[in-house]
Amino acid sequence: MKKDLSLSTLVSDAAMVNDYDPNAMSVEKAKTWINHFLHNIDQKESIHIKDALHRVLAKSVIATMNVPNHDNSAMDGYAINTEQLDEQGPFSLRVTGKLFAGNKLEGTTKEAVRIMTGASISKDMNAVIPQEYVEVNGDNITFQQKPPAMQNIRTVGEDIKIGQTILQKGRRIEPCDLGLLASLGIGSIEVYRKVKVAFFSTGDEIISLGTPLLPGQVYDSNRYSLIGLLQRMDLETFDLGVIVDDKKIIEDTLKKASVFADVIITTGGVSVGEADYMKEILKKIGEILFWKISMKPGRPLAYGKIGGCHYFGLPGNPVSTMVTFYQFVREALLTLSGESPIHPIPMIKAKLLTSIKKMPGRTEFQRGFFVQNPQGEFNVSAIKDQGSGILRSMTEANCFMVLPESMGSLEKDYWVDIQLFDSLF
Ligand code: AMP
Ligand code: MG
Repeated sequence: MKKDLSLSTLVSDAAMVNDYDPNAMSVEKAKTWINHFLHNIDQKESIHIKDALHRVLAKSVIATMNVPNHDNSAMDGYAINTEQLDEQGPFSLRVTGKLFAGNKLEGTTKEAVRIMTGASISKDMNAVIPQEYVEVNGDNITFQQKPPAMQNIRTVGEDIKIGQTILQKGRRIEPCDLGLLASLGIGSIEVYRKVKVAFFSTGDEIISLGTPLLPGQVYDSNRYSLIGLLQRMDLETFDLGVIVDDKKIIEDTLKKASVFADVIITTGGVSVGEADYMKEILKKIGEILFWKISMKPGRPLAYGKIGGCHYFGLPGNPVSTMVTFYQFVREALLTLSGESPIHPIPMIKAKLLTSIKKMPGRTEFQRGFFVQNPQGEFNVSAIKDQGSGILRSMTEANCFMVLPESMGSLEKDYWVDIQLFDSLF
């Protein structure tokens, strides 16, 4: 299903599907359609592990050695052989040697050996008694309990076994993985190259920072929200600034960007206003999929392709830009980056502390502020102003309340699904 689809084929197929309505495609369906066109970018590079945090593994890592590679002591204490002990204590043994981590031995390993954490266990020993359980008298130790065999011994391969697949292709590298790779002596790994994302804002009224505003103009906030969103995703980004509502300039910019970028993201100009040109331009130079989604905020959204380059046209209203990025673009970028499996954004149930106004028929992503009450229950309050132009609502919120299409207004004490902003990457 995923291979060799063209957008135009899909659109005509889609038009034949009974429940397909270009004026109101559901959020889930829109995601599914987009997903048909997404494959990871199959270009690899080899990098040192110190540069590998958050990169995506292009080849599974198989252990070529055991970790640890020797049986060793888990405690500072005394290594003994339990077979030389009677069943009943107390026991008294002579300390004949000292073993340090790195295996420096002083003396011999006959009756009992003073041993440090990490030192190899010699073949004639089978347990370590922590020093806290031992009374020392000159060269002798006394203890009460006979330890079971292998107590406080870390065995060969108990962390990682030779031949084990230790990190799967598609995994996004976490700090612990860097340590794990180092513990195997692996200094470099194969990762997918970073996804290249070009982005620009559109609108005659949109002004870059540093220029005084005239009446009727607004500063370009979307590009900065996007910069933040993209920075968190470890991509290669190309900031193309603000482009005025001029078909020729937009077309040229899109064409140029489609040559070097894997993805182009624009904000604004995807609505049905007279200066909303993105759909028309995409139709001319590439392919464009759908237009309106039954969601709020973020109703107009465009996905298309220019050659091999993916295109996302996000709505210009600043909250809509962020919501559509989180709900559509984020997952698409994860897929392109090779991450696998991709986990859906976790949803948590929270009890409403305020009532909510909502019309059935569209999925709403209202902004909320959640707290965990002393009983451990999640409670959420709706942010007062929910307009799609009120970016402050994102700053005041710490979660989306995800309200499904069928749901209407809700009274307080209802339980709703929330997505924590912190869990969105
Ligand atoms: P549009 O989607 O182009 O019709 O824009 C919808 C609304 O969002 C308009 O009020 C625009 O002024 C505003 N808007 C569009 N782009 C931006 C931007 N980059 N920064 C801030 N507001 C914007
Ligand atoms: Mg506009």
